[in-house]
Amino acid sequence: MPNVSQTIDWHQRARDLKVRGEALVAGRRVPAQAGATFACLSPIDGRTLAQVAAGEAGDIDAAVASGRLVFESGAWARQSPAARKAVLQNFSALIEAAKDELALLETLDMGKPIRDALAVDVPATARCIRWYAEAIDKIYGEVAPTAPDVLATITREPLGVIGAIVPWNFPMIMAAWKIGPILAAGNSLVLKPSEKSPLSALRLAELALEAGLPPGVFNVVPGFGHIAGKALASHRDVDGIAFTGSTATGRLVMQYAAQSNLKRVSLECGGKSPNIVMADFPDLERAAQAAAGAIFFNQGEMCSAGSRLLVQEAIREPLLERVAAIARSLVPGDPLDAHTRLGALVDEPQTQRVLDYIGAGRSEGATLKSGGQRVRAETGGCYVEPTVFSGVTSGMRIAREEIFGPVLAVQTFKDLDEAIAIGNDAIYGLAGAIWTRDLKAAHRAARALRAGVVYVNCYDADDITVPFGGYKQSGIGRDKSLHAFDKYTELKTTWIDLT
Ligand code: NAD
Repeated sequence: MPNVSQTIDWHQRARDLKVRGEALVAGRRVPAQAGATFACLSPIDGRTLAQVAAGEAGDIDAAVASGRLVFESGAWARQSPAARKAVLQNFSALIEAAKDELALLETLDMGKPIRDALAVDVPATARCIRWYAEAIDKIYGEVAPTAPDVLATITREPLGVIGAIVPWNFPMIMAAWKIGPILAAGNSLVLKPSEKSPLSALRLAELALEAGLPPGVFNVVPGFGHIAGKALASHRDVDGIAFTGSTATGRLVMQYAAQSNLKRVSLECGGKSPNIVMADFPDLERAAQAAAGAIFFNQGEMCSAGSRLLVQEAIREPLLERVAAIARSLVPGDPLDAHTRLGALVDEPQTQRVLDYIGAGRSEGATLKSGGQRVRAETGGCYVEPTVFSGVTSGMRIAREEIFGPVLAVQTFKDLDEAIAIGNDAIYGLAGAIWTRDLKAAHRAARALRAGVVYVNCYDADDITVPFGGYKQSGIGRDKSLHAFDKYTELKTTWIDLT
């Protein structure tokens, strides 16, 4: 029996879809004040999906002002926890009800297979919002253990107006990781989605309004990073900026915060994560499948991608052959076909970037084991084969720089110490993994790898209950879990003299 998504004609649905590109400010869909727009193109075939408002400083001002107004009114920030919880639960239910439309927007906008958008992106978004909704009335303040003639309470208060800037690889999920805790804590939000994938964020904000969120609490201003993103991160009336994107842009966001009002900054940035396979791991096929999934899922456009496969010398050949065979079997296809497992890269510049890195791998002396070609050029879309390089050394660019595409760099090591040393030899520290049946090796690696998450005998396992974020230049702060509230709340001490 085919599942429901396989019986739907997604091409027809795409033709019927109404896409709107206006910003959403103070509860209304509005064009950019200067009237500027940009064409939102689909990487599936280059078609124009919508003309989208190109927000500038004035649009950011208006969105921040509406967020400030409603924040000061208390219409959201001072609503009872139970009332806020009910609104966010409604919001989550509306996301689930709109699953086909949201999945389609995601697939059309950034090229991921519709089956992944339906199975991963929409459910994860709805779950995230519901999880934070349910957390709202379960968080208590503290009473400090002071002397008996004092009552000192420690309570959390919302920060105020928060700007969120997000990337295009999981447009809805990356936004939801901000939206959930920011709104649950009682803040107002101005969200700047990526100019490469603005559509689902705009629709999410409409659904939040429909769910009962007061107008002005959740604004979305699409636009270019160096214009709208910069205006948001530089704004003097924004209390915090929550950024997900590249390390290079994260650096700028920090500068803008420093140069304006010292707003609180949290950064979720890039990665170049090592996936270590020890020779004692008994199931090579399983390790190979996971290694391929770790770099080819979502076309390799994953911050936590296992882009460096580190293989112990004794199993180099059999593991490499398996991974290369899986790569060859993953043929890029039409993202709107429900059977497709590997879709399009997000746009032409990203495609060129990936192809340039493949060229660098070749010219620096790595061995191309599979892939390496642009394909489906006749569609007008952006498709690159899953690519595996062996014989990679730590100095090569494909071993050091984040490619953000389906390109795997395979290196070998002699023993665990060398694997850990190679693994940690990066400016990034987002994720890492070890495959072994040796308990001591697993624990040693888990402690020694300088990364926000270490997987043992798995890769990319995920749940909203655990924090996500990076060591080193992979970022500052954590998304997901209750720890995310640290970014979006102030801690207040109230000291009451009882003498
Ligand atoms: P990017 O840095 O180019 O853009 C991210 C966002 O920043 C976009 O909305 C963009 O418009 C905006 N931006 C660009 N220039 C700006 C500026 N000068 N001022 C303010 N905002 C600006 O990144 P990208 O290409 O969209 O995304 C890919 C990157 O995101 C990769 O490095 C990836 O590892 C990272 N990422 C990290 C995580 C994580 O949780 N750590 C998750 C997903 C993606």
